[in-house]
Amino acid sequence: MNHTHFEELILDDIKLSPEQKKTLEAHLAECTQCQKIQTGWSGLRQEMRTTPAVNPAPGFTQRWKANSEVRRAQQQMIQSRKLIIGFSISGFMLLAILSIVFFTQYSPADLLVTIFRTITRLAIGFEELRQVVTIWFKIVISTSPATLAIFISTWFVILSLGLFISYTRFWRKGEVRS
Ligand SMILES: [Zn+2]
Repeated sequence: MNHTHFEELILDDIKLSPEQKKTLEAHLAECTQCQKIQTGWSGLRQEMRTTPAVNPAPGFTQRWKANSEVRRAQQQMIQSRKLIIGFSISGFMLLAILSIVFFTQYSPADLLVTIFRTITRLAIGFEELRQVVTIWFKIVISTSPATLAIFISTWFVILSLGLFISYTRFWRKGEVRS
């Protein structure tokens, strides 16, 4: 028996001829497989007719809400990204403008003086810290002459470094003034 032919007759939405109807009914009477297709298909068609098109399927509204929430979150993410990029660009531009103003207002020599002054100040700060450390060192070196030698040489290096920085600073300052 050719089931596919009858399946086509069941599923096709064409009007059947009286002869086709007769053979189909005869086949359905003895074939459970095609019966199942027939009942299933007619039931589905019935459901499609009775269910109003305007009524969304159950859960559709919730799904749509969830989707809109996802969309909203995505839009917020995009907006925050735009904000970050905007801030970065504006910050960079501000920095560029400030540096242009700075470089046009101050000469390179002035800049060098400022840099060296800052370095010297930092060195003085380090010296103060060093002095605190020295007190601790003094306690330690009282026990060993080797540690004392190391301490003195280290101190000498720091002192000469500080002198060098000061010298460079004053030398640069003199250059600016001349
Ligand atoms: Zn059949």
